[in-house]
Amino acid sequence: MNQWNWVAIRAYGRAAFALLMAVVSIAMLSQWQASPLLAGFVVVGRWVPLLALAVTLWLVAAPTYRLVQWQRGHGFDCPRCGGPLGHERTGYASRGGAYRRCYACGDNINHRHYMSNAA
Ligand SMILES: [Zn+2]
Repeated sequence: MNQWNWVAIRAYGRAAFALLMAVVSIAMLSQWQASPLLAGFVVVGRWVPLLALAVTLWLVAAPTYRLVQWQRGHGFDCPRCGGPLGHERTGYASRGGAYRRCYACGDNINHRHYMSNAA
């Protein structure tokens, strides 16, 4: 598999998972509707797929924005492979604090080692 397939998987993996949750919850709700015992839950439960779809949209939009910014030279390059870095995560202070994971090679890059790719 080439490097850009991994970029797509790392960037949109969580979006795919959220979409799966939406599909599963829709399937479950349609099952529940048939049961008089569970029909009451459907009233509350029908918000779950909507919420999951909203999360999916966000999880698609956020990495896309990050990749577009990176491509325009407003992002951070991975010091190891030059690939785009993901969102910043709070790391343990003992391990140097905040870090980003590289979408291309999967390396965790400490905030002290971010390299702006602004030309
Ligand atoms: Zn990398």
